Amino acid sequence: MSILSNVIDTVKEILAVAQSTATGMSVTLSHIPTRKATVSYPDEPVTIFRRFRGEHFLDVNEDGKEKCVSCFLCAAACPADAIYIEGAEDPRPYEERISMDHRYAKVYQIDYGRCILCGFCVDACPTDAIIHGHNFEWAVYTPGEMVKDKEFLLANKWREPDVKPNEKQKHLAAKQKLPPLNIILK
Ligand code: SF4
Ligand code: SF4
Repeated sequence: MSILSNVIDTVKEILAVAQSTATGMSVTLSHIPTRKATVSYPDEPVTIFRRFRGEHFLDVNEDGKEKCVSCFLCAAACPADAIYIEGAEDPRPYEERISMDHRYAKVYQIDYGRCILCGFCVDACPTDAIIHGHNFEWAVYTPGEMVKDKEFLLANKWREPDVKPNEKQKHLAAKQKLPPLNIILK
């Protein structure tokens, strides 16, 4: 009698395991025909929303003059104390100036070890000089490498997918080792 009872228990256990395996497999199989959510980045481009706040770039106007006039409003607005600026005067005529004004940023740095991507600096800028780009690849080996300087931030614009850099601008990006971003903006 006890042998029969043991056999019945074992059969019940086998049926229970088979049933839960079948339930699990049915969930797995039901997802196979749906579109996959993963992307083999960087072999395939990844889709990013336009409103995504990534690494910044410093912009220039249509004459190639830096838009930053060293007013320090972005640094004052930054809650993380991530922006460092040294301003300077450039009294030369407009055609020869570095920026579109007689003031320019001799030094402009953002420390991405501190930046929280809040966008306050972008909102505070009266000349639209500082803009959020879409780069999200920030892995570096040392904290010092997280501090990005003016040359880097100026070149960072020319890797965005919806700008068309000329040869000089492409050279600026290449000099900073900034390949075009492998992203699709949505
Ligand atoms: S995004 Fe925010 S935290 Fe980052 S530099 Fe701008 S103001 Fe500072
Ligand atoms: S980026 Fe804009 S807010 Fe910041 S110093 Fe330059 S002009 Fe002023």
